[in-house]
Amino acid sequence: MLMNKRDVLKLAAEFYDDNQLAELEHAIDYATAKHKGQKRKSGEPYITHPLSVAANLIDWDMDIDSVLAGVLHDTVEDTEATLEEIENLFGRDVAFLVDGVTKVSQARAGMKDLGDYLPQTTDNLSKLLIAVGQDVRVIIIKLADRLHNLQTLRHMPQAKQTKIARESLDVFAPMADRLGMGRVRMQIEEIAYSYLDPKEFKHLEALMKKRLGKSTRKLGIVRIEVERELSKQNMKFEINGRVKSIYSLHKKLLKVDGNVDDIYDLMALRVIVSSKEDCYRVLGILHGMYQPMIARIKDYIAIPKPNGYQSLHTTVITPSKQIVEFQIRTQTMHDYAERGLAASFHYHAQKSSKSYSRSKGAAKLPAEMQWITQMQEVAERLRDGEEISRDQLNIDLFGNRIFVYSPKGDIYNLPEGALPLDFAYLVHSDIGRHAYSFRVNGNIHAFDKPLQNGDVVEVITRKLSSPKSNWQDLVTTSHARAKLRMQLRKLGVIEAVSGAAAIIREKANRKKS
Ligand code: MN
Repeated sequence: MLMNKRDVLKLAAEFYDDNQLAELEHAIDYATAKHKGQKRKSGEPYITHPLSVAANLIDWDMDIDSVLAGVLHDTVEDTEATLEEIENLFGRDVAFLVDGVTKVSQARAGMKDLGDYLPQTTDNLSKLLIAVGQDVRVIIIKLADRLHNLQTLRHMPQAKQTKIARESLDVFAPMADRLGMGRVRMQIEEIAYSYLDPKEFKHLEALMKKRLGKSTRKLGIVRIEVERELSKQNMKFEINGRVKSIYSLHKKLLKVDGNVDDIYDLMALRVIVSSKEDCYRVLGILHGMYQPMIARIKDYIAIPKPNGYQSLHTTVITPSKQIVEFQIRTQTMHDYAERGLAASFHYHAQKSSKSYSRSKGAAKLPAEMQWITQMQEVAERLRDGEEISRDQLNIDLFGNRIFVYSPKGDIYNLPEGALPLDFAYLVHSDIGRHAYSFRVNGNIHAFDKPLQNGDVVEVITRKLSSPKSNWQDLVTTSHARAKLRMQLRKLGVIEAVSGAAAIIREKANRKKS
């Protein structure tokens, strides 16, 4: 749909106060004037693009500064507007966000081909990280921008389509996933995949249609049965069907050697209730009605997915041999599953969104978002002139992540394959330094044995214990490696950094103290 000023203001009227709306109108007029005469590849006036980006951000419940930055996001790069002017007109925060988005675009523009996962050069990647590290809203604005570019991708030449689709699938979809923004992730994946492999996409679409046609009626019967039983038990609930996306079907098929009969969740029923307790009650009721497939019961409420996703999943077999997956969650969990971190900006008001920015530290970030802190640390080290290998970045930013717990129940987020020392250094560099042995789930645990999702990890420390040089092979995160190397250097176990890097570091350290 083509967006104009009136559409955006109308959409915004529901969420922002009069002052904020006046500011929004001002930004729209300013951007319209600046982009005057420019056209999109589709032939439409350019302003339709930033307006659509802003509309996405409003839809995602972002704070007003992000929406303003969405309206202005291409002005500095593509028009004669300057950052200074934007700062004068719309304030420092908005200018800061626009600058971040511009930097990310420049970083991207410098990228040649994307490798399997990451931008090729650490230089561009570092720009990206630095921008993100300062404020995660920059990436959310970038996602809104990318989504609209995908939605209008048909106007691009084919080579460009493929490139943008590839990059969206490799970089932007995982980003959205990491932010818990499930709906955006799915939208990005669906469009990108349809351009990357149009033939297979159409094939799967047809396959899905055929399958669904068969099972929709049977599923309807199950749904009515469940509704009846839940009402009888006086539950307050909402139930609806959800259909698997084409891209996730494609990914699942790769796992089950292409046999669509092995996929049970082409269609699932989603039950939304009002409390966590009710989620478990519904699970109990369902298991009383149908036979559950034991291996497929997942409690993502007790142990959320690393991106914060929560729900109970179960797959049951009905007496007529119909296999049905259920997802059970509260409304809050549902909102989070759809909108992720973005959802927390608007409701927690402008003030708290500042706590996501670097200067205030990330103490208030939910545990599942600790990777942002880690990303910020990487950005800081890049700024200090430190060399960081692609491998380290790959593990830290794009690998799968696990949750582990301290004996007190604090949650920590680590990359898959993390070792006990990674955990120790994440808790505190002194805990890492004096680590003597580990207990995991009550049992002694070797230094070289990876941690698993849900592990309770206890670090046993000894005052006199100190880091050994072979520990360098016993850490996997760049965070732990950096802390360990610093300690080993202090102890004289390894040599100090040489040359220019050392001087830059010195300077940086002096500035800090
Ligand atoms: Mn743009």
